[in-house]
Amino acid sequence: MKHYFLGMAAEYADGGWIKHLFTIGRQRDLDALNRFLAQKYHGEALLCKNGRSALALALKKYFTPGDKIIVNGFTCYAVYEAVKTAELKPVFVDISQEDLNFDYEKLEKHGDAKGIIVQNTLGNPVDMKRIEKFAKEHEMLIIEDLAHCAGVRYADGREAGTVGVACALSFGKDKSIDTVSGGAVVFRGEESNNAKKIQGPRPSDHLRARFYPMFGALCRTLTYVGLGGALMRALVKIHWVEKSADSKLDLNRRLSKFQAKLALQQLRDLRRAGEPVLREFCFVRDRAEVLKKLQKKGYYFAGLWYEKPVSPERYYKKVHFPENECPNAVYVSEHILNLPNYYTRKDLVTARKIIKEYLEEGDRHEQ
Ligand SMILES: *Cc1c(COP(=O)(O)O)cnc(C)c1O
Repeated sequence: MKHYFLGMAAEYADGGWIKHLFTIGRQRDLDALNRFLAQKYHGEALLCKNGRSALALALKKYFTPGDKIIVNGFTCYAVYEAVKTAELKPVFVDISQEDLNFDYEKLEKHGDAKGIIVQNTLGNPVDMKRIEKFAKEHEMLIIEDLAHCAGVRYADGREAGTVGVACALSFGKDKSIDTVSGGAVVFRGEESNNAKKIQGPRPSDHLRARFYPMFGALCRTLTYVGLGGALMRALVKIHWVEKSADSKLDLNRRLSKFQAKLALQQLRDLRRAGEPVLREFCFVRDRAEVLKKLQKKGYYFAGLWYEKPVSPERYYKKVHFPENECPNAVYVSEHILNLPNYYTRKDLVTARKIIKEYLEEGDRHEQ
């Protein structure tokens, strides 16, 4: 079996890119998405350019510059950027290796923060009851970041996004809802009467969002003659394709109308039953070795979530991450392997076997 090379918009394979290219959006699609989000999450929705802008808007509304805000110690640079844009102080809390969310004992040392961002990492829900109790004790506000977890439910059945004072959605590449880019924020606190004026997307952003799946399809095809990677790199270089992490934060723009239409379709399709896990994960001793084995069989696990406690690596230094306080996050980022969602269940049968064999071999060595 031949596998796709790289992520390269493989989630838009099987004709998805054609639909994406030709979907026509109208004002009424923006209105419909707005209404849907307002109803689903019980608040006032605002459509945004991307998830980080949505998160920044939520943070700016409920916090004051200088406030401390708790952030999961294993996250995306987008979250850090949102916190910084709102002029807040991020407090990174170490994670548990079980679910990649907060280590609750360490969390409870940070009662002086004013807020907490819950992200339900890779679709694994936090113990929301416990977080609510902690937040209440310290008069802290909860913000839910739904980039990984749209549709996920907490243990008591409540849906992610219906607990905090605000929730932020991302519709970026490889997220729970994926329209290449886009996002939305729902303010669940008090009503604001000054509706923010938000402009349409920049033409360049609109075009990038429109054509990325098609470029991906082209690159994947060219992979079979060895040219896909080079073309994708060239497209990134001339900015026709943007790496997800490089998307600019902009509080005054929204996604394109056609993206609103696609996002609404995906939101309606979110699986009701079961937990929509974004990426299954496991830990391996020598990740490079396993990736090499996988690559030999044609698998390319691009963009592991995450290779640094705050990813991607090229932005990590800027964050000044407190590694000493977050040993689990450091360990996890070095050893985590997760199954990209651009492969189907069937595609992954051989990959799972390779990983399982590797893990069993390790166990044998230890005995
Ligand atoms: C990707 C991501 C976001 C938002 O990303 P955008 O690229 O700005 O849409 C927010 N939180 C987490 C945890 C993410 O992984």
